[in-house]
Amino acid sequence: MTQANADLAQLIRTIPDFPKPGIQFRDITTLLLDAKGFHASIERLAASAPDDFDLIAGIEARGFIFSSAMATQTAKGLVLIRKDGKLPGATIGVDYALEYGTDRVVMHEDACVPGQKVLLVDDLIATGGTALAAVRLLRQAGAEVVGASFVIDLPDLGGADKLRAAGVPVTTLVAFEGD
Ligand code: AMP
Repeated sequence: MTQANADLAQLIRTIPDFPKPGIQFRDITTLLLDAKGFHASIERLAASAPDDFDLIAGIEARGFIFSSAMATQTAKGLVLIRKDGKLPGATIGVDYALEYGTDRVVMHEDACVPGQKVLLVDDLIATGGTALAAVRLLRQAGAEVVGASFVIDLPDLGGADKLRAAGVPVTTLVAFEGD
């Protein structure tokens, strides 16, 4: 089977052993440098977005790049989901497990009006831990998560399947084997 969006896959650079041995880091900075590729990635994610949603939620940090472009492309507002300690207003947060230890994502407690339909955006889904925590956080804020869009999927790590099992339709543009 040929790679979907092969033109975009070609623009993503793989850096072996970053940030630690054994990780194949999928580097989107080379995609961002390519005007047509960056534009196409946003257009294609926007084209596969749900018909009806109110807000985009972007995950720190590379997710901010794609979510803010998606927000302007689809003329929606943008909610920032950040690491703890960076947002100035009152926040709500969700802890999630990492391979070693835990991490926490937070958002402003008044960022969503309960019942709003939100599309989650990040650069890449791997194990799905980050995205699932973001979904829990948005649901805690009363939002309905109507979809999640990622440029890159690492299907062998199962994150997209976990998100679908949690009731969130998932769109990805490019898949890479392995981790
Ligand atoms: P996960 O929570 O395991 O789905 O990891 C997703 C987050 O970690 C995303 O925000 C990615 O930016 C980052 N990430 C995980 N694995 C990689 C990888 N192989 N290359 C680049 N970024 C990654």
